[in-house]
This record gives sequence, structure tokens and C-alpha cells, in this order.
Amino acid sequence: MLGSLLLAGSRSPLARRAVSGLPVTRKVVDRFVAGETTADAVEATRRLTAAGLAVTIDHLGEEVRDAATARAAAKAYVSLLDALAPLGLGRRAEVSVKLSAVGQRLDEAMALEHARQICSAARDCGSTVTLDMEDHTTVDSTLEVLRALREDFPETGVAIQAYLFRSEADCRDLAGSRVRLVKGAYREPASVAYQSKGEVDRAYVRCLRVLMAGTGYPMVATHDDRLIAIAELLADRHDRDRDAYEFQMLYGIRTDKQLALAEAGSRVRVYVPYGDDWYGYFMRRLAERPANVAFFLRALKGK
Ligand SMILES: Cc1cc2nc3c(=O)[nH]c(=O)nc-3n(C[C@H](O)[C@H](O)[C@H](O)COP(=O)(O)OP(=O)(O)OC[C@H]3O[C@@H](n4cnc5c(N)ncnc54)[C@H](O)[C@@H]3O)c2cc1C
Repeated sequence: MLGSLLLAGSRSPLARRAVSGLPVTRKVVDRFVAGETTADAVEATRRLTAAGLAVTIDHLGEEVRDAATARAAAKAYVSLLDALAPLGLGRRAEVSVKLSAVGQRLDEAMALEHARQICSAARDCGSTVTLDMEDHTTVDSTLEVLRALREDFPETGVAIQAYLFRSEADCRDLAGSRVRLVKGAYREPASVAYQSKGEVDRAYVRCLRVLMAGTGYPMVATHDDRLIAIAELLADRHDRDRDAYEFQMLYGIRTDKQLALAEAGSRVRVYVPYGDDWYGYFMRRLAERPANVAFFLRALKGK
């Protein structure tokens, strides 16, 4: 219930103004967001990679409604990749892109062109791109853009959301590619998505089975201990070495677990968001976990 309200709020301009204007918000946001500038993202990358983790960096922004902002988002990624190049991290530092940030809602061809520019800059520094998945109305378009990108950049990955009924079939189609499997973070209707945690978790396992049995590179993006253990079992069953799949978690969430998995020899990648358009991302993190709302309210009270 609270989660649904927060997800509704994540798309409300009124709630955006109210939450963004609270003096304590920045302090709480900093727990989930690595900073506002390219330099902040590079610094977080240095810190996390020095600790044995890999990163995928997200320049925050979504649902862009004008061409200039979409162009600026693509430029920000290219500048970021240029700044990462001297670190020589290759695939240990990749980028995550929301197509709606580079123009998908305006014109799919524009989003494809911007995504191509980002993929090309990524390739120049030995890195890769993964397309985030947004609400269900964008899935067909995102997979279409992915198909076009993969003609020139077959290393491009995509996130698939286990909560959507269609995703097991999408995993089958993509089982030879880099696929990040997530539970799903948007408010979706019962006509397209499982609604209960139990159903979503079972769907996640079904998708995981398909990906682990395939020839691609599964990216197991979850903080859920049970699913992490199941992924390890399935990888073992399919004779996958530790470098034939990876775990992914979000910046600031279960940091101890990230380090413990890496120390035990698993590949772990942290999703690092940065930039000033943090509102939608932040609200989805609050919606995932009531304890985060309590943390936010405690910060307000302590003000
Ligand atoms: C690397 C990465 C990339 C992602 N990309 C996408 C994407 O492209 N599209 C998309 O729809 N979704 C994406 N997500 C979000 C995802 O869909 C889930 O909403 C999110 O990961 C929470 O689900 P969970 O699998 O961690 O399991 P849950 O059942 O939600 O959580 C399991 C446990 O993890 C911890 N936890 C989970 N969330 C939080 C939180 N916010 N704060 C503190 N603790 C928490 C808690 O201990 C919780 O008990 C991504 C997630 C990750 C990790």
C-alpha cells in the first residue's frame, strides 16, 4: 500500500516539488546516489573498484520530453566514458542507460541514435552498455532498440523484469546475450505483472533457470539472499565458472553483502547513480522498503 503510494508519487510533479524542497532530503538521497557531477561518479568508481567491485554507472534522468535534454543526457554519458577511459577499467566500469532519458518518448529513432553514440564511446574505452528497463509500455520499444544496437554492438545488455508475465519468453529469446535479471521496480497493473512477492520471486527463479541454461551472460541483480543462493546453485548445475555470470546490487544497499560476495570470489557489480535528477530513482528505492521511509522520517524529525 505504502509502496504503491510512493510509486504513484514518483510520477507526480506536486510530490516532486514537495519532497525535493525538504531540507533533509539531500542527506537521505546521498545514501543512494553517488553525487551530482561526473567527478563524483569517477570518484565512486575509483573507490568501489579499489574494493574489488565492478560498477555500472547511471546518469540520472528519465522520461525526457524535449530533444535538447535528451541530447544533453547522451553527451553526459560520452563525457563520463571519456573521463573513465584513463582509469583503464574496461568492462569493470560500464554504463546503464534509460532510453527514456535519451528521447524514447519523443522519437524511438532519436533514442537509438543517442544510444549508438554511447555504445560507441563505451567501446572506445573497452566498456559496455546495459539498457535499463522502465515501465511495461516501453518494453517492446526497448527490445527493438536493443536488437538494432546489437547489430553493431553485440555486447550490449538489457534488464529484464521478472514481474512481467512476458519475461520468461523474453529471457528465452535473449538467452545468448548479456541479461540483467531484476524483480521490477514500477507500479504495474495485474493484467501484465505478478503482484505478490511470492509470485514475483517464483517468476524470478523461472527466468534465472532459462538464463543460466543459456549461452549468454546472466547478471543476477537482486539483494535477496534466497535468490542469490539459488543463482549460485544453478550456476554450479550448469558448470558456469564464477566469471560466467555476475551479481549486481544498488549503490548504498547491502554494501556488506556486496563485499562478502566479492571476497568469496564472485563477480559483483554495483549500480552507481549520479546526477541531479534523482527524484524518480529515490522514490522507487523508498517504495521498495518501508524501513527506508522510516529512515527518511527519522531524518525529518531530527531536523
Ligand atoms: C543492479 C540493479 C539494477 C536494476 N535495474 C532495474 C531496471 O532496469 N528496471 C527495473 O524495473 N528495476 C531495476 N532494479 C530494481 C529491481 O527491480 C528491484 O526493485 C530491487 O532490486 C529490489 O528487489 P530485490 O531483488 O533486491 O528484492 P526485494 O525482495 O525487494 O529485497 C530483498 C532484500 O534486499 C534488501 N533491499 C531491497 N531493496 C532495498 C532498498 N531499496 N533499500 C534497502 N534494502 C533493500 C532488503 O534487505 C530486502 O529484504 C535494479 C536493481 C538492481 C540491483
